[in-house]
Amino acid sequence: MVQSGDAAEAEAMEPTHHPDVDVIVIGAGIIGSAVAYQIARRSPLRVLVVDKAAGPATGSTGASVAISRCRYTVPEVVRLAYCSQLAYRSWSTFTGLREPISDYTQLGALWVFDRTSEQLTAEYERMRGNGVAVEVLSANEVLHRWPELDLCIEPIDFEAVDKHQCRQGKFFLYEVEAGIADPAGANADLVAASRREGVDVRFGTGVTDIVTDEGRVFGVRLDNGDEVRCGLVVNAAGPWCNQINEMAGAQRRWTLTPTRVQLVLREWNDTDPRLPITFDGSTDGCYRMERSGNQILLVSPEIPSFMEATSDPDNLRTSPDRECVEATLAAFQHRAPGVRHVGTTTGTCGLYTINEQDSHPIVGPSEVPGLWLANGFSGHGFKLAPGIGAMVARAITGAEAPFDPDIPDDLFSIDRTPLATSGGVFA
Ligand SMILES: Cc1cc2nc3c(=O)[nH]c(=O)nc-3n(C[C@H](O)[C@H](O)[C@H](O)COP(=O)(O)OP(=O)(O)OC[C@H]3O[C@@H](n4cnc5c(N)ncnc54)[C@H](O)[C@@H]3O)c2cc1C
Repeated sequence: MVQSGDAAEAEAMEPTHHPDVDVIVIGAGIIGSAVAYQIARRSPLRVLVVDKAAGPATGSTGASVAISRCRYTVPEVVRLAYCSQLAYRSWSTFTGLREPISDYTQLGALWVFDRTSEQLTAEYERMRGNGVAVEVLSANEVLHRWPELDLCIEPIDFEAVDKHQCRQGKFFLYEVEAGIADPAGANADLVAASRREGVDVRFGTGVTDIVTDEGRVFGVRLDNGDEVRCGLVVNAAGPWCNQINEMAGAQRRWTLTPTRVQLVLREWNDTDPRLPITFDGSTDGCYRMERSGNQILLVSPEIPSFMEATSDPDNLRTSPDRECVEATLAAFQHRAPGVRHVGTTTGTCGLYTINEQDSHPIVGPSEVPGLWLANGFSGHGFKLAPGIGAMVARAITGAEAPFDPDIPDDLFSIDRTPLATSGGVFA
């Protein structure tokens, strides 16, 4: 269980080991920088963030498609996603930066999923009841807005595409305020906001070991040989999180698998159909426009051979595989036959850290005193980051701040039972 703010802060201020700082955050991706900023904006705790990379957004965050949407199965996760979306939509206010790099582009999100009318009604009510603006659109209404789309809901078997028979859906959930931010920009903004609040953020500084004494973590060893002591270490190392947890002998309960996800970027013609962010139940893929309006970003279908597990995040192959590019383009052409492509196809790859048990993250104290976790975000870490930072910071400091989520801080605790999902990584 997450400790009360007072108990956790007392632990953070533990005098026995003469800490150099109160909290060390390992990793300055979107999660680590959100945790640091959220602690610093609500408390005088001394926070050090270390990242082995040369700058922000070189890990999962830099590859993120940066979609903010709120359709989740668990109502608390809907609220967490929504409060984080409000932060992204009010980024200058949230970060206190007069001219942040990131901003928010509202595109709307359409869920082209096979749902009974009872299931759709339940989703609509769950979303509305938790403050999210949604509509149920009929097929005619969708096609009136976006005539380029096809509304087939029959799963595609990529082994037998020629045998596929379309089956059109009748009603669809539409998230009005869903949109995108700038992942690298938002990460850099949170680093800047953290530094302004007094956080010491050091890039080019790797953690090579976790320092323990009698089963309690009280610091880290850096790659220059220095040992830095603290009250709490927060593991926000993204796809490298297992390496950090192994150093401390922590977190053996959940299977968190760094997994290569492939992205395809396609140019299209100069008429801009303003497609919504589209979640594609036929392929478990997802598509969205780039801000320029003349490129579409396609997340490859959720086919096991396209999602390769790795235990070595440092050696990621960043070019998508030809077979995957072809299948992704075919899937998109099936979903949006009215979009004509021109120009070139490019792409990149990044790492999800998939929680194999329930696709939700592990956030809060580990079973090793002095080590907290913010790991295993699957495909959700960007959209949830502001709220996740708030949950960690509120649990450590006991202090509230604007944009905090109205949910328990131990929702994702290490000792929880798996949370409900609708199946697959969409959760
Ligand atoms: C292709 C793709 C598309 C995605 N699309 C979306 C989306 O649309 N919406 C969404 O919400 N999420 C999305 N995600 C997921 C989201 O990007 C991640 O969940 C999120 O970026 C994870 O952030 P992080 O800070 O935990 O990890 P990272 O960004 O990887 O940061 C971890 C940091 O830890 C550092 N580090 C590691 N080991 C050490 C060490 N020993 N010492 C010091 N530093 C260390 C690394 O250098 C790195 O900077 C996507 C992910 C991918 C790959």
